[in-house]
Amino acid sequence: MSKHPSLDVVIADKLRKKILTGALPLGAHLIEAEYVKEFDVSHGTVRSALKRLEYEGLVESIPRRGVFVVEIHPNDALELSTLRDSLESLAAKRAASTASPQEMKKLKGILEKMQHEVMRDNRKECAALDLEFHRHIVACAHHSRLTAMYAQLASQTEMFINLTDPLHDDLEHMVPLHEPIVRAIETQDAELAFRLSADHNRRDGELLAEQISRRGRT
Ligand SMILES: [Zn+2]
Repeated sequence: MSKHPSLDVVIADKLRKKILTGALPLGAHLIEAEYVKEFDVSHGTVRSALKRLEYEGLVESIPRRGVFVVEIHPNDALELSTLRDSLESLAAKRAASTASPQEMKKLKGILEKMQHEVMRDNRKECAALDLEFHRHIVACAHHSRLTAMYAQLASQTEMFINLTDPLHDDLEHMVPLHEPIVRAIETQDAELAFRLSADHNRRDGELLAEQISRRGRT
């Protein structure tokens, strides 16, 4: 593996960060020529960076109009939350029998950090730990195709978590939502781990869909 990522990967990282932090809002037009100038790279490099983001589901290319940050419609929120629930519950179910002691230790460590950040009301860190928590359970499942599918969804998942964060006044729900999943995996209760993960995102998906459709009507 080469030490330096290729230039289009670097540019894709920069643009992804802008999208996920909201510096480039939903629906924003990404103008190729601007990034050629801003990053001092070729058109081809920018184009291939944009292709990467399109594959991750963060931007869409509209013929003769250009490339835009995706707009999230109510149905997108529901699709993402149900797809995440499906993949994450499959992972949790398998992890109940496949997670090693070291992996369990790491999972508990993530939960502890989450507890700590909830107490400090650190929303940004909590969102990052939420993502890390589920990504780690997927890794614990030792299922390469599941890992690959989940990785493809990672950017949209991060976007989803960032969009649903403001829906919660406080972070109190975080630990009660995740702690039982850890316990179920630890006690090797595969069915419980599956059930708890199977609707873990549903409420956020529904709330986000509701919020988007309300915004659409005003
Ligand atoms: Zn979660």
